[in-house]
Amino acid sequence: MRRPIIAGNWKMHKTIAEAVQLAEALKRQQGEPQAEIVLCPPFTALAAVAAVIQDSPIALGAQNMHWEEQGAFTGEISPNMLKDVGCAYVILGHSERRQYFGETDELVNGKVKAALTHALTPIVCVGETLAQREAGETEAIVATQTRGALAGLAPEAVASLVIAYEPVWAIGTGKTASDDDAQQVIAFIRATVAAEFGNAAAEAVRIQYGGSVKAANAASLLSRPDIDGALVGGASLKAADFQGIIDGVR
Ligand code: PEP
Repeated sequence: MRRPIIAGNWKMHKTIAEAVQLAEALKRQQGEPQAEIVLCPPFTALAAVAAVIQDSPIALGAQNMHWEEQGAFTGEISPNMLKDVGCAYVILGHSERRQYFGETDELVNGKVKAALTHALTPIVCVGETLAQREAGETEAIVATQTRGALAGLAPEAVASLVIAYEPVWAIGTGKTASDDDAQQVIAFIRATVAAEFGNAAAEAVRIQYGGSVKAANAASLLSRPDIDGALVGGASLKAADFQGIIDGVR
């Protein structure tokens, strides 16, 4: 069985004090959660949030990283630095990275390999734009992005990671893919993984949905057989909203 995973992407929000407050509120609310819970604060708050959530069921993730271990890469953060601060996860290839920072499938692939080498679990984002969806290209786009990000990996490595299907038109817009649409595309991504890496990897890899997930729509999305959790932006910034999503896991 795949354990659901609910991850909060705080993006470029929260001072250290605000991040600590949010992490403390979430920590207080966790009993024995049905899902794995991951908080992805900005780099500046990673250490402080790590201190709050230690000895809790909540894990720490980063929102991006460089693929090299060290070197002259001004402004970048390496995989071993993320391990050092306590991260278990790292979001890679988010559509905002692709759109605003020119990240390609090849670059994302290099980051995925580096993350796995350093025992960080990548949360690999794929998803089509509105124009691509309207042109009927959704499957072609997510297949290309999935194959590109995972190229050259062993099936066991693919089995261990997380993919997030995030239609770009649904991110931060209040528009959510219907449960049927999300299930259908995620099943297609799983079939793509099966074709490339075999059935065992496809059955094991966890695939989240992301895009305007909130408490009101989480439970029905998460009840679909191929949807293994959610990557949450806006609704992860308030404890009550994020907890409402966590509670949607049955
Ligand atoms: C995201 O940025 O990964 C995301 C899904 O954002 P939102 O939940 O705000 O749409």
